[in-house]
Order: sequence, then C-alpha cells, then structure tokens
Amino acid sequence: MKIVKTIAELRSTLAGPRANGARIGFVPTMGYLHRGHISLVEISKQHSDYQVMSIFVNRIQFNDPKDFETYPVDLKRDFDMAEAAGVDAVFLPDDAEMYRAQRTFVDIELLTNHLCGAHRPGHFRGVYTVVCKLFNIVQPDVSVFGQKDIQQAITIERMVADLNIPVRIIIAPIVREPDGLAMSSRNKHLGAEVRERAVVISRSLRRAEELIAQGVRSAGDITASMREIIESGGPSAIDYISMVRYDDLQPVDRLEDPSVIAVASFFGSTRLIDNMIINKTNGGYACIW
Ligand code: AMP
Repeated sequence: MKIVKTIAELRSTLAGPRANGARIGFVPTMGYLHRGHISLVEISKQHSDYQVMSIFVNRIQFNDPKDFETYPVDLKRDFDMAEAAGVDAVFLPDDAEMYRAQRTFVDIELLTNHLCGAHRPGHFRGVYTVVCKLFNIVQPDVSVFGQKDIQQAITIERMVADLNIPVRIIIAPIVREPDGLAMSSRNKHLGAEVRERAVVISRSLRRAEELIAQGVRSAGDITASMREIIESGGPSAIDYISMVRYDDLQPVDRLEDPSVIAVASFFGSTRLIDNMIINKTNGGYACIW
C-alpha cells in the first residue's frame, strides 16, 4: 500500500493503473478508522479495481474548533486497517497541500437548510468544497459514502449531478456496534457510562420502525415517541429528530415515499447522529437503518 502526501505524487501514482484500464474507487475519510470505513472499501472493491482512501481531517468543515482539536488520530492503526482491507493508496495531505489561500467554495441550496445543515453553520460548505477538490484530485470512477451521514450522502449525489462530476456515488449501509450504536470515530470520546446510555438513539429508530409497521404515518407522532426514548437516556441536548423527504430533505408531516428519519443528539459533549431510510414496498414500508 502506498502512502502519498502530495497531489502531484498521487496523480503520478494513479497514472499507471488508470492507463492499464483500472477503474478507480475512492473512499474519503477523516481517519481513526473503524469497521464502518472498512465496509466502504469492501463495497468500493466490488465496483472498481484500484482503491484510494483519503485521510484528511478537514478543518474548514468543523463549525466547533474544539471538535477539530480533539478529533481522534491514530495513523499507524489506520494504515494497518486500510492495508488489510485492500486499499492500494492512502492520500494523506496536510492543510497546506489542500488549501492555499482558498477563495472558492462549494455550497448547495435548499438541501442544507434542515437537519445538520441548520445546526452546524458552514459545515456542509466545508464538506462539499473538500469532496469536490478530492474528486478533482483523485478523479475516481466510483466513490462510496456512508448512510450514517445521510444528509452528506444525498447532497453529494446532488453535487455530482449538478456540477457534472463524472463519478458514480454509492451509499453504503450503516455499520453498528452489537447493541445498535452506529459506529463513529467520535464514539471514542464517550465514557463508559455515557456510552451505555447512547444506545437509546438506535432504540428510538427501532421504535419508529415498529410504529410505521403498525400503520402510524404522522411525523409528529413518530418523532414524539422517539424523543421520549432518547430523553430516557439523559442526552445533554437534542439537536433534532426529524422526518424529511429523501429527495430534497424538506420536513414532511406524514410519511412519504421515500423518506428519511434522522436524529442528532449530544451525549456528554459528543454529538451523535443516526438515521433510517424508509421506502414503500408491496406490503408496506421498509426501514433501512
Ligand atoms: P468520517 O471519517 O467520519 O468523515 O467518515 C468517512 C466516511 O465513512 C463517510 O462516508 C461516512 O458516512 C462513513 N461512515 C462513518 N461511520 C460509518 C458507519 N458506522 N457505517 C458506515 N459508514 C460510515
């Protein structure tokens, strides 16, 4: 596995495989890898021949400077995990390599006015700018994003369509801990006692699934029931519990096809997110989470 730090070196690394007809798969990450990240590589391998992973903690997407400063890092472990997963090249740029007096930023209208977009000012502008730059640097055929960050995944699909970026976006399922907590690099910050309480987030999604199966369609009824469950775990704050349309991420009063139910809540000082996608099926609705 090659580890490259500059854009020039990455481009020359990829020239060979590309000339030989290899399809390039790309998984962008901020490192501190877990099984969720590795699952994206596994999926990318099913659709491409040469795997690039970036590890870059993108300062401009952090609306909270403390979150940036405390973002966990363990590169040695990341390299071992990436290599074992079959990554061919890790792109590990530093701040100066990615941002030299950047004056151009990418933003997406409407789709960011709810959910995390409403609660993390400037976050998505930083995400789209770095992902757009990484797409131009790597020029992948395929790139895999996690459903875990559903607003990010859906809006990046929109960005590549709107900006005619020739890459296929794949959205990968959420990988969870045995008790249901969605894996996240930030879970490291949860102390043992808080970690146990945080299970209420995925439990609230299970409750939503049960209610939908029973025929409940009101967003207010479903989210109120989820709120009760999350509050029973003593969150330090709840940013949102929302039902939105999948296509434009606008709130809905009643379940539509397809919809997303998304949650963001602080446990201790750690902000956790989770969600489910709801699709109509022959007999009712399927909840994917
Ligand atoms: P991050 O390093 O947190 O920026 O995440 C990099 C990619 O991994 C994003 O596409 C995330 O959605 C994805 N990801 C993070 N956690 C999970 C998870 N538990 N399951 C699946 N994908 C994940």
